Amino acid sequence: MPDDTRSTVNNLRPFWMPFTANRQFKAAPRILVSAEGMYYTTDDGRQVLDAAAGLWCVNAGHSRKPIVEAVQKQVAKLDYAPAFQMGHPGAFELASRLAQLAPADLNSVFFCNSGSEAVDTALKIAIAYHRARGDGTRTRIIGRERGYHGVGFGGISVGGIVTNRKWFGSLLTGVDHLPHTHDIAKNAFSKGQPEHGANLADELERIVTLHDASNIAAVIVEPMAGSTGVLIPPKGYLEKIRAICDKHGILLIFDEVITGFGRLGSAFAAEKFGVIPDMMTTAKGITNGVIPMAAVFARDGIYDTFMNGPDNAIELFHGYTYSGHPIACAAGLATLDVYRDEGLFQRAADLAPYFEAALHSLKGVKHVIDIRNLGLVGGIELEPRAGKPTARAFETFLKAYEAGLMIRTTGDIIALSPPLIIEKSEIDRIVETLAKILPTVE
Ligand code: PMP
Repeated sequence: MPDDTRSTVNNLRPFWMPFTANRQFKAAPRILVSAEGMYYTTDDGRQVLDAAAGLWCVNAGHSRKPIVEAVQKQVAKLDYAPAFQMGHPGAFELASRLAQLAPADLNSVFFCNSGSEAVDTALKIAIAYHRARGDGTRTRIIGRERGYHGVGFGGISVGGIVTNRKWFGSLLTGVDHLPHTHDIAKNAFSKGQPEHGANLADELERIVTLHDASNIAAVIVEPMAGSTGVLIPPKGYLEKIRAICDKHGILLIFDEVITGFGRLGSAFAAEKFGVIPDMMTTAKGITNGVIPMAAVFARDGIYDTFMNGPDNAIELFHGYTYSGHPIACAAGLATLDVYRDEGLFQRAADLAPYFEAALHSLKGVKHVIDIRNLGLVGGIELEPRAGKPTARAFETFLKAYEAGLMIRTTGDIIALSPPLIIEKSEIDRIVETLAKILPTVE
């Protein structure tokens, strides 16, 4: 049913849109007014198949009743509770449930409100942890090219996206970047983890030699880089990074903001790859995208170091007004119930081979130079085109939206990350729509 929302976008000045060129948007506004299951409804009454889980976050599908009801119940009961020196039952309950879900001894959870905040929090905990152990020279952080860690100053410093960094001054000092692992020449059309590239982890040894381990606090990487184009870690790569960190007493942080909560067919990528980090940052799927929330998971040794300081100390000088917000906690608990009751992580694992075969059927379609996938994530890379203001992938996004399909794009890459409730027929539809559109993009 069309409504009159479209008239509100005639004046774009008040809403300065994130990561969006307002001027371009005005020419073709894309306004979503409701959502259910796998579909959005637009302001002109069209159904759009969500092949992106919103922004990689709506893992259980849209407007799920148990989550909606839990939020409604909570807001009517306890709307807000201070997070400092106070608490409420939901925060303790959700933290326990999350700790149970996490692998190994990632048993303590620090709540934040976005992935960006989680990243800044993890970096601060890493540096403070070393200091609390009397190892205060360990302050340097190592990120990776083509890493995306949100938009806080910490996140853009360790992240590796030039456009997100170059406008914003000198950023965090003491940061190095590992090379990214994307190599089409060697790994094009890999299914699952690519064969080549584990040796790129050796660069970490070079950086350690350069600065000395005694000055390095942590390495932060996305176990699978999502927003910069679905870069799947080569076989053996994460294991090597883990071993080098262990050898030198460097903490390893996995940014699981995208990979957490079932995306790869397991609760976390750490489990999928069998590599346990010292901290994990998570967000997005933690509440199924319903309410902003994020969480940093820390291993016992880190938590204990803070808790074993002098008795009158505040253990960590860090926190947010909305850390562990009661409504977000209620949404989180209901979301975890849905994931568990519907077996959605296993569903993602079971659907992955079908998704893989469907995606790779696009090999040979015009402009497609690589396809890669893991769990329910796919990346389709298109030939770059020179001399046009927009990439082919973005034009594909615009045409797909008109055809009733929502995808994500970054540069020349199309990223697919559907809600884990997707049906095979909907996977077919995504692929058929792209097969039709791609040849029409010049
Ligand atoms: N880390 C990763 C790996 C992400 O993918 C994102 C968001 N796409 C973030 C951090 C930032 O999260 P937010 O946008 O919630 O700040």
